[in-house]
Amino acid sequence: MSKFSHITITGFQSTDIRFPTSSSLDGSDAMNVDPDYSAAYLEIFTNLPSLKGVSLVFTIGRGNDLQVAAIEKLVNKIIGLDLDSVIEENLTIYKDLGSDSQYRWLGPEYGIFQMARGAIMNALWDLIAKAHGKPLWLLLSEMEPEEIIKVIDFSYLDDVLEKDEALNILNATRDSKLRNIDIAKKSGLPAYTTSPGWLGYKDSKMMDLTRQAIDDGFRLIKYKCGRKLEDDIRRLTLVREAFGEDLLIAVDANQVWSVNQAIEWIKSLKPFNLTWVEEPTHPEDSAGHAQIAAAVAPTPIATGEMASSRITFKQLMKLGGQSVVQIDASRVSGVNENLAIILMAKKFGKPVCPHAGGVGLCEMVQHLAFFDAVAVSGFHNSRYIEFVDHLHEHFVYPVKIERGNYVAPSEPGMNADMKRESIEAYSFKSNERVTL
Ligand SMILES: [Mg+2]
Repeated sequence: MSKFSHITITGFQSTDIRFPTSSSLDGSDAMNVDPDYSAAYLEIFTNLPSLKGVSLVFTIGRGNDLQVAAIEKLVNKIIGLDLDSVIEENLTIYKDLGSDSQYRWLGPEYGIFQMARGAIMNALWDLIAKAHGKPLWLLLSEMEPEEIIKVIDFSYLDDVLEKDEALNILNATRDSKLRNIDIAKKSGLPAYTTSPGWLGYKDSKMMDLTRQAIDDGFRLIKYKCGRKLEDDIRRLTLVREAFGEDLLIAVDANQVWSVNQAIEWIKSLKPFNLTWVEEPTHPEDSAGHAQIAAAVAPTPIATGEMASSRITFKQLMKLGGQSVVQIDASRVSGVNENLAIILMAKKFGKPVCPHAGGVGLCEMVQHLAFFDAVAVSGFHNSRYIEFVDHLHEHFVYPVKIERGNYVAPSEPGMNADMKRESIEAYSFKSNERVTL
């Protein structure tokens, strides 16, 4: 029966990669003022020279070495496994990577060990998809509902989602999946862009980039906000006056407000008819998010890119603090945990609008969005995947955006592979442009 028992994991390479993005203020917001976009990059090798699993954890500079070190502490657990056992014992491997009783003390399912597990699981899923010759989204979409359920850790979730209910959600789309795959390949999925909206940009640059984004077909644009209310009002007024009411606008405060401050600030921005307000306060303050959402309704509250696990997402959804579910490919523990979050979002009727940008996040998270559209929540007009036009040139198979839509990726795997010359050029040890 075994299909891939001849493929064995033989070793790994982890690399600290940093890009000097702080020099141009790309990625700047009210909390993260000078990010150097970075990747804790993981390659898992097999006995077949042409087959490796690749993934990364996105960080913004200092501390990327710690993320690499955390990956290195855990990754030995998978060396020597054959690919059949990676597939059949997937959930056991996932649990094993998170259950070292001493590392767990450093953060039970949060922080760098949580993301390290995510890096390893994502690299394993990349490997599985490549071995099947399929893009990850298609591999996941074609898996039987029972197979998907088998890779999800339902612990701590039974107050909102039991296995049977999750299985029912997946079974509901069983008959439409083939048609949905077709639609996904033909039409793609809507993107939104944050590229014009960084807080460090001058008004003229913001307006030029907004015009460009609209010309490129984007219907929703996101602007960073939250440092000074008068700046936010000035910037949003400029955009609304120049581009009209039809342009969808979201804003992102990147966690800088307290709960009361957020309520007042968001009320002041009501005239701009915002599609959502993102990360109004601390990402783990589920109760605070719920209070904000209730006070500013019907303005939707979006969050999730820094929520550390499915358990935080559970609380946000259960308490009503999250109108838009922003999963991230490398923040939680990889594909396995994001599957649980996508199913919970469906249960609560919340759209999944993935967070992306950074380094490689667009490349990886698009697979989860396409899986969600094909096999869980179908096609609806509340889904947008974030797109930021930075650093894609370093990837072997970068995302493709056409007329404001993500094109369904067709290459085998999860698209995290970086070009060898980029890895070498931006490997931290040889890169003195990034500040310590
Ligand atoms: Mg954000």
